[in-house]
Amino acid sequence: MLYEPVIGLEIHAELLTKSKMFCSCAVVDSTNAESNLYTCPICTGQPGALPQINEQAIKLAIRVGLALNCTIQYESIFARKNYFYPDLPKGYQISQYEFPIASNGWVDIDTTEGRKRIRVRRVHIEEDTGKLTHIENKSLIDYNRSGVPLLEIVTEPDLHSAKDAVTFATKLRSILRYLGANTGNMEKGVIRFEANVSVRVENSDALNTRTEIKNLNSFRSLAEGIEYEIRRQSQVYAAGEIVKQETLGFNEATGKTYSQRDKENANDYRYFPEPDLPPLVIDSKWVLSIKNSIPELSDAKRERYIRLGLSVKDADILIDEMAVTDYFDQAVKIGLSNNVDAKSISNWITSELFSKLGFKSEIASCYVTPQKLVELIAMVDSGVISNTIGRTVLDEMVTNGKEAKVIVKEKGLLQISDLKLINTTIEKIIANNPDKLKKFLSGKETIKEWFFGQVMREMDGKANPSIVKSVLENKLGEEKSRLSQF
Ligand code: ADP
Ligand code: MG
Ligand code: ZN
Repeated sequence: MLYEPVIGLEIHAELLTKSKMFCSCAVVDSTNAESNLYTCPICTGQPGALPQINEQAIKLAIRVGLALNCTIQYESIFARKNYFYPDLPKGYQISQYEFPIASNGWVDIDTTEGRKRIRVRRVHIEEDTGKLTHIENKSLIDYNRSGVPLLEIVTEPDLHSAKDAVTFATKLRSILRYLGANTGNMEKGVIRFEANVSVRVENSDALNTRTEIKNLNSFRSLAEGIEYEIRRQSQVYAAGEIVKQETLGFNEATGKTYSQRDKENANDYRYFPEPDLPPLVIDSKWVLSIKNSIPELSDAKRERYIRLGLSVKDADILIDEMAVTDYFDQAVKIGLSNNVDAKSISNWITSELFSKLGFKSEIASCYVTPQKLVELIAMVDSGVISNTIGRTVLDEMVTNGKEAKVIVKEKGLLQISDLKLINTTIEKIIANNPDKLKKFLSGKETIKEWFFGQVMREMDGKANPSIVKSVLENKLGEEKSRLSQF
């Protein structure tokens, strides 16, 4: 029997604020900073310490809610989620339960089967826990992360393959990055994905027992974890048994899930309204101003780039990184007054500039500013230098930031369009290679390319290739007609 997967995702994303959710401690890189230095009585749960709400975190949460097409709750309530764990010094986590800040939204994803709408059930604010590190038989605890603003985003079970789940996760991560809400750095654990998976008989709309997979630290693990669960659950049902609701971990080394604990239910947490915080009341004017501050997101960018003449593939490569789109947008603007079009700018960025950068994001601080890149492209497009020379010039620009025209002048790289010089070079090459000419005359057309390469080489790559091509064409044509006269 064929089983259809049903998947819902839960995403935890730390919000990019300077200070924590309920105190003024700094938010630091928990993989780098000295442990337990950025803590205070509030985020370590000392008796009598009172939380205060971080406005910037609320603003970012609203931004995210709006970008995910959610309804914003003008009055939301913080709730205590009670449970004990060493990484949670208060013994409870301040979260939102019945009244999340945003709900009922959606995100469209593009898949091989077309566009699909994935509903977003809720977006709520909570605080991150401390970080536990287990070393042999000891456990270390770092409370720097304790109280860092955390957004939980929960989808409806609208996804039906591991591939679509990854597409959704990738898109969501991109939206959060565009919004300045999260860096998207999965290795640092600032964004974490959990997948809820069940399977059902195809064409039914049953929601069967699901398992929840935690510890998915990369898109690859997300895909593998989901696929493993789909296989496992299908086999369980095929054997006539039933799937147990549980929380699973994922082992990257084996590619398998393992049971962590039986799934707890909401009532185990004894949620109740947080007595130390008033309801969060949000002004609709504020929401409107936040709405107006949302930057152009990746979908709108992609469409705009396609209208500029880029292929979908190239547009997708660019929109992956906001530093790149900023750079590209600036270059396009400069290109307008330099006769350089968006398509060639995109080509130079994706096929030349990227290969010289360690990370795409380095483009923002790279020596080759959008202005300098456009100047270089203009020189190539107008035939001042050849394409090949353009690439070597770019090499140097990346290392020392000189302008293209300075490098070209210093190194004498101007393209040679001098017909006489090109003519004599071609004649010389033909005369020096009678065997190749013979092959050509006997019908081997590809020898033409070989001659072309020789001429370009002889002229240090500086000859204007289209002139070389046409002159060579003529010369070889002459040789041919001379042959047929005999
Ligand atoms: P909890 O908060 O206990 O984890 P929720 O009911 O809020 O439970 O659901 C969490 C996630 O599980 C959501 O993303 C939801 O879409 C997904 N989900 C719910 N039921 C199923 C199911 N039968 N199969 C797959 N995913 C499911
Ligand atoms: Mg859950
Ligand atoms: Zn603190």
